[in-house]
Amino acid sequence: MDVKRQMRQHLRAKQGSTVSFILVADSIFKSMRTLPETCEAIASTTKKLQKTAIVAEYLKSCTPDEAAVSAVFLSGRPFPAWEEATLQVGGALLWRVVEELSGKNEAALTAAYRKHGDLGSVAGELLPERSGQGVNVLEVSRAFRQISAARGPAEKTVLVCDVLQRATPLEAKYIVKIMTGDLRIGLKESLVEEAIAKAYGGTLAEVQRANMLLGDIGETLRLAVEGKLSEAKMRMFHPLGFMLASPIESAEEGLSYFVEAAVEDKYDGVRAQAHVSDGEVRFFSRTRDEITESFPELPDTLAGLPQDAVLDGEIVAWEYPPNPARAREVVDKTFSEAGEEKAARLGRARPFSVLQQRLGRKKVSGKMFREVPVAYLVFDVLYTGGDLLIDRPLRERARILDALVLAERKVIHHRGTGSHRKTKELQGTLGFGSEAETTVPNIIRAPVFRAVSPEELEELFAAAQARGNEGLMIKDLASTYSPGKRGKSWLKMKRELATLDVVVTAVEYGHGKRIGVLSDYTFAVWDTNKDRLVNIGKAYSGLTDVEIAEMTKWFLEHTLEDQGFRRTVEPKIVLEVAFNNMMQSERHDSGYALRFPRIVRLRPDKTADEADTIEQAREIYEKQNK
Ligand code: AMP
Repeated sequence: MDVKRQMRQHLRAKQGSTVSFILVADSIFKSMRTLPETCEAIASTTKKLQKTAIVAEYLKSCTPDEAAVSAVFLSGRPFPAWEEATLQVGGALLWRVVEELSGKNEAALTAAYRKHGDLGSVAGELLPERSGQGVNVLEVSRAFRQISAARGPAEKTVLVCDVLQRATPLEAKYIVKIMTGDLRIGLKESLVEEAIAKAYGGTLAEVQRANMLLGDIGETLRLAVEGKLSEAKMRMFHPLGFMLASPIESAEEGLSYFVEAAVEDKYDGVRAQAHVSDGEVRFFSRTRDEITESFPELPDTLAGLPQDAVLDGEIVAWEYPPNPARAREVVDKTFSEAGEEKAARLGRARPFSVLQQRLGRKKVSGKMFREVPVAYLVFDVLYTGGDLLIDRPLRERARILDALVLAERKVIHHRGTGSHRKTKELQGTLGFGSEAETTVPNIIRAPVFRAVSPEELEELFAAAQARGNEGLMIKDLASTYSPGKRGKSWLKMKRELATLDVVVTAVEYGHGKRIGVLSDYTFAVWDTNKDRLVNIGKAYSGLTDVEIAEMTKWFLEHTLEDQGFRRTVEPKIVLEVAFNNMMQSERHDSGYALRFPRIVRLRPDKTADEADTIEQAREIYEKQNK
């Protein structure tokens, strides 16, 4: 390469010694890799330390602008995580562009795709070599912005063609990989964080924290370059990771990990992080998708908060109490310490199957508002009034949350004009009367109980289930909030709704390590007359590898119809399945579907005749909806 030769000459002149020239030049050439070359080097090793070293070395060889963009690309994204920009370029469009630019036919593309399993590598193999061309990361970044802004597939196609045409095949390979969001070089964002710490100094913890707050690995890199990681500020409307809970087997275990436990009901709805700033309110789901549209009645109440805030809670279908005024008194006084009776007077959650009707809707009809009102049960606060609270103990966060919700109540009490008119109308449609004072707010501070003995915990558990909730969450009052982590500071105690003994009617090959074995089972219960099996669900997990191997052999020998990927089988194998919830559903011919079904065990001790019937299933469904 000319550049390399020039560099060698330059160095020789400077160093004067062949030995040091080779050493210095070697390390420089290594670090003068382009981003695609770096990606190839990363993919060629499985060792994490080596991967981070390669990334760090590459980043250091770039200008801060190039490094910032590269960090985003190396995380497998065209844009920083917090941004809403998307390319909106599907696989079909990319396929057509690669076909066009390569001049190859469909069969050649399909063969290459079979070989590599991703379109980026297909582009790398089939696009023609064009000497003297190439695009650098900044140009690619600009092209991505243009593609994102372009309207319609025709406009986008022209721009995609343009950037791929200018690229070398190796560059095209990685441009396509980033566009499809699938780098496949064994590099996670966490390794890029490590590389940033390695390249620019700053501890890994500082880099992780800045990236968590900003949701932008490129911006994080810039702060690291300037030695300003500690100045990273929370970016509103970019969701933080959710703290997760570990399951426990018994009440004793529930109190074994920490000294002081706060106990809350475990509500069966959808987890939601609310961001409130300057009257704007947005909700994010556990997958970090925005879900505000599905719950248009919630933002208005939160918009009255006196300070910016990030809250954590669960959106549930809520049965409001018949006497709102009385419940209001309770709400106003019920904060982190709650009594049973107070909790009951707030109203109660309805089953997840009810909430389900509200999920994923872009438009919520008036009928839906009336029939399935929702509430946001808030149990944590992560940020308020400029302060990030995740490093404070839960005890303190709970107090701050109480104060915040109380303040919000005051706002509700005194409003009723101007921008809040919409709320009043909404509440009117909900049928709680038009006066704010007589309504129960739909933002409810989740009541907190205390338990010091396993017996108390069992009692609370029974009470939570009697209220129709799944069980309990037990939280360490001394714990900080760990975004995205599942630890022992939050524990979940729930019992399965029930189990059913079912008969396997069809089987499928599994995925991943279960690719060659029949591990996915469709199962059925008997209909009323016991003359027909009706499917009720499908389960993937629960059996050991040995059991699955045995079952595979049996199912292969007892196949009724081989439909390729799926086989209907002789209905002889009985399984015990557990599940969290049951729904009415068109999916299976029983008219029901199970939520989170898992195989508890094989029941070789039972014949198919002894499996449960649709009646037993119906009983469980009715009990759950009482
Ligand atoms: P699981 O989905 O079984 O892993 O249980 C954890 C989930 O329970 C959380 O992600 C929340 O969506 C939900 N949850 C319900 N009530 C609470 C609560 N009081 N505190 C925390 N999480 C809760």
